[in-house]
Amino acid sequence: MKKKILVIPGDGIGPEVTTWGKAVLEKIAELFGHEFEFDEALMGHVAIEATGNPLPDETLKKAKQSDAILFGAVGHAKYDNDPSLKVRPEQGLLKIRKELGLYANLRPILLFDELLDASSIKPAILKGTDILFFRELTGDVYFGEKIRSEDTNTASDLMIYHRYEIERIAHKAFAAAMQRSKRLCSVDKANVLESSRLWRETVQRIAKEYPEVETEHMFIDNAAMQLIKDPKRFDVVLTANLFGDILTDEASQIAGSMGMLASASIGDGTGFFEPIHGSAHDIAGKDLANPLASILSVALMLEISFGLKKEAQLILTVIDQVLKEGFRTNDIASDATNPYQVLGTQEMGKLIL
Ligand code: ATP
Ligand code: MG
Repeated sequence: MKKKILVIPGDGIGPEVTTWGKAVLEKIAELFGHEFEFDEALMGHVAIEATGNPLPDETLKKAKQSDAILFGAVGHAKYDNDPSLKVRPEQGLLKIRKELGLYANLRPILLFDELLDASSIKPAILKGTDILFFRELTGDVYFGEKIRSEDTNTASDLMIYHRYEIERIAHKAFAAAMQRSKRLCSVDKANVLESSRLWRETVQRIAKEYPEVETEHMFIDNAAMQLIKDPKRFDVVLTANLFGDILTDEASQIAGSMGMLASASIGDGTGFFEPIHGSAHDIAGKDLANPLASILSVALMLEISFGLKKEAQLILTVIDQVLKEGFRTNDIASDATNPYQVLGTQEMGKLIL
């Protein structure tokens, strides 16, 4: 398979971790006989320093021409306490998402057996958890009309969904369910909200096109509870923007460290793959960052954008084995009673290779 991959390392620990994501892609190409052609581009603080623009035109052009993008993180401490700085690193990220038409955010919650103790939930409840969230990104209260009235002392945010917005993400989620264990749970609040009734009707209709998928509908309040009580009951979870925002953050905590979670944003064109963590300036340049989230982003790219399931699975197997052998980065080695081998970013990256 021949693919063009754009690497956007960004700021802070971004470059330190994406180096290893890219190295793993090169290794996969070598092992399976694929041709991955790489290019690199600037975004965030480094791009502002070099060009005055957090998303230079050249980066956007390269992004649109690539088959997938591996992204690190953007951000710099100097912006955190100075809102007067009008040109900001995160503007680059918002703009590229819009320009690429990314309407679905995918976040896999994948637990490695060796890290079960790291969570505050009982290992017996967590063991075997493997959830893939599909959060809608373009509709909902974020983009509906917002009104503030001083006369009546009221404020309102319109929760709005268009049928096509629900249809296109539902197709993506059902397609993913077909590649996994053929179970999909759609989460809404259709007992109260009209937009949720449209959501449920639309998902029910699209479900008929995927008769092999076992489809379930659940109210958001129940889903939030079930996620903690019995996370294994979920496989693919499909939900709207606001509910997805809340549920995926809840779910990230059942998985433990930020350094172990990847996410993908997809639309009809180029997919965008990144760790869920940010630029983490406190540990930048110290060889402390866990590169596994970037490496897991690569596994997600192989599976979601290129359909290379075997290759993605190999990455998961290797990470599992490295953890089983007792190797950890600092963020996942909190239990001092265990005789872990604590590695830096570089050593961990080399070991995975
Ligand atoms: P940003 O503003 O870009 O989100 P941040 O400073 O808020 O960056 P995050 O990346 O969101 O930092 O992470 C919060 C903390 O979690 C970091 O300060 C860091 O200590 C830890 N952390 C995040 N990612 C990793 C990682 N890959 N490996 C180890 N520790 C991490
Ligand atoms: Mg952060």
